Amino acid sequence: MLKLTQAPNLLFATLWADALTADGIEANVQRQFLSGASGELPLDQCLPEVWIKHASQELRAREMLFHLQHVPQHEWVCQCGELVSGGFGECWSCGTLMPR
Ligand SMILES: [Zn+2]
Repeated sequence: MLKLTQAPNLLFATLWADALTADGIEANVQRQFLSGASGELPLDQCLPEVWIKHASQELRAREMLFHLQHVPQHEWVCQCGELVSGGFGECWSCGTLMPR
C-alpha cells in the first residue's frame, strides 16, 4: 500500500479512487470514517486519503491524478437547484446526469 495523495473532501477522494481503479490501478480511500470528527482533530488528520495497492503503479497513478485534478471546472446547475462543480458528471444531491 502506498499513500498517493490527500483529498480536500470525501467526494474527491472517492472520485479519484474510482477513476484509478477503473484504469487498472487498485486504489481505495482511507480515513473516511473520521470525517464526522473534524471538530476534534487537526484538519490534516481528518482529510480522506487515496491509497494505491501497488507502489509500482505510483508514477502512472500520479500522472492520472494530475489530469483528474486539472479537468476544466465545469459548473452546472441541476434541475433540483444544486450547483455542481469540480468535474462531476452527475448531481451529488439527486443523481441526475449533467445535461449534454
Ligand atoms: Zn440534482
